[in-house]
Amino acid sequence: MTNTTDSSKKTSKKKKSNSPVRVVFLGGLGEIGRNCAAIEVEERIMLIDCGLMFPDDDMAGVDLVLPDFTWLRENAHRVEGVVATHGHEDHIGALSHLLSEMPLKIIGSPLTIGLAKNRIQERGVTKQAEFIEVNDNDRIQVGPFDLEFFPVTHSVPNGFATAFHTPQGVILHSGDFKLDMTPVDGRLTDLAAIGHLAKDDGVRLFLCDSTNADSEGFSDSETSIGQSIHDLFMQRADKRIIVASFASHIHRVQQVADAAIKCGRKIATLGRSMNNNVALARQMGLLHIPDASLIDIEKIDGVPDNELCIISTGSQGEPMAALARMAAGENRFLSIREGDCVILSSHPIPGNETGVSRVIDGLLRRGSEVIHSGTHRVHATGHAKAEELRVLHSIVQPEWFVPVHGEYSHMTSHARIATRMGTKPERILICQDGQSVILDDEGLHRGDDVPAEYIYVDGTVGDLDESVLVERRTLGTDGFVSAVVSIQVNGPNASMTRSPEIISRGWVDGDEGDQLRKDAAHLVNDAVQDALNNGKFTRQELERIVRRTLGRFVSNKTRLRSMIVPVVLGAHEGKDDK
Ligand SMILES: [Zn+2]
Ligand SMILES: [Zn+2]
Repeated sequence: MTNTTDSSKKTSKKKKSNSPVRVVFLGGLGEIGRNCAAIEVEERIMLIDCGLMFPDDDMAGVDLVLPDFTWLRENAHRVEGVVATHGHEDHIGALSHLLSEMPLKIIGSPLTIGLAKNRIQERGVTKQAEFIEVNDNDRIQVGPFDLEFFPVTHSVPNGFATAFHTPQGVILHSGDFKLDMTPVDGRLTDLAAIGHLAKDDGVRLFLCDSTNADSEGFSDSETSIGQSIHDLFMQRADKRIIVASFASHIHRVQQVADAAIKCGRKIATLGRSMNNNVALARQMGLLHIPDASLIDIEKIDGVPDNELCIISTGSQGEPMAALARMAAGENRFLSIREGDCVILSSHPIPGNETGVSRVIDGLLRRGSEVIHSGTHRVHATGHAKAEELRVLHSIVQPEWFVPVHGEYSHMTSHARIATRMGTKPERILICQDGQSVILDDEGLHRGDDVPAEYIYVDGTVGDLDESVLVERRTLGTDGFVSAVVSIQVNGPNASMTRSPEIISRGWVDGDEGDQLRKDAAHLVNDAVQDALNNGKFTRQELERIVRRTLGRFVSNKTRLRSMIVPVVLGAHEGKDDK
């Protein structure tokens, strides 16, 4: 582990030179997730975050979505490293994937690095990484990058806003943040230091979290949620209590643990990431649970209900996580039963709503009480709402502004907030994934686009193409119909060796299906016979004829757009003209 805190002098770097600075947005602008941007200074590239996105329901079978690394791959020799702003998956989850393609310096707080390391080790690419730990208000030099880190409050501890002191002045990236005035660890967003930066150096370009730009007011303080969880524990003194939350939300875990301990309960953790993160945060002194209050999940059987609290993963409804297994009655360590109280101390992130309601249903069916953010105040957002954004804009007073981290509507709302706070509309650029901006002596303007497709990951299979997803959706909604045609070629003649066979799945069943398959076989038979009579007997020609004949039949008879799979056996290969 290296620590290159070699420069802590705060010299003004606002000098204007001819060396422009480019910012490339690779992900997170137009969706929640896969946050990744690149800053180019003197031909070198520093990334800000490298995260993943969880798939939507319509991304059939996809496990993860990554940023498009095409441009980084082409410029790998220029990539210095990544500033990991905080330890959430949408910011560090794709690091291990990028590391398998290129070595990287990874710069972040000790907790962020610790959380990232867990994932990187799982993929066995640790050797490619050089970890650089930085602390609050450190200023370091990495290659041509002069970086300064400001503490911000968020739903994982020890996150940063990052200032890039560049030849074109300061670029300030807010990271994910809120202005929690009473955070659990007392570590406030350092508005004073950001104010100094804005006054002394001036912020030339501001990149700021837009997630909650649509929500008016201030976000709730994390400690207010602790009080509400404590009250729930008091009111359910004789029940067994299970709380699910994000495993990285160390402060939430702390507050649940505090409530449990006050009520004389022992705490068991459940789920791999919860076990790992609790161990990591305790070891770093960021989570305070005495040994005597912890009990192994395998030993909870003898503990009376009113003396037990289980803290579990799976608050996002992830089907393989501990909570979903409990809801399905399949968890190895814990069966939910009548009288239990399950608290989902979270809010579903976009795309996970269905999974979460399925889990809630399952838990209710098993007779437990289920408390969630819709019924009680058991969750506070980690992202600044409109009023907090106004506060930060009033302090930063940027020359140029690009809203980041949000869906398109969040970014446009954020642009309105910035305008209202004094940034001229012509100095606000709304960008999307794949776009870039150039900061030079004249100001900020758009640069060339780079590829920014969704890169789908399914299990251990590498990248999936969009066309695979289209096929999966078709199969999922309309099934497939296949015709198997077998021919024999003898010199200039060819004949079918048997009648075509129609096979279908997920199409039409019963007698009606049998009749349709019979009719289809006749049509295909006639069409193929015709083709053979006319001397068309390459595989490509015959497949095209079968696909067209069968496709038309399926569409006319059933109004379905089923996948048509022609299989022609025994034919010669022809030219692959489509
Ligand atoms: Zn975050
Ligand atoms: Zn985020």
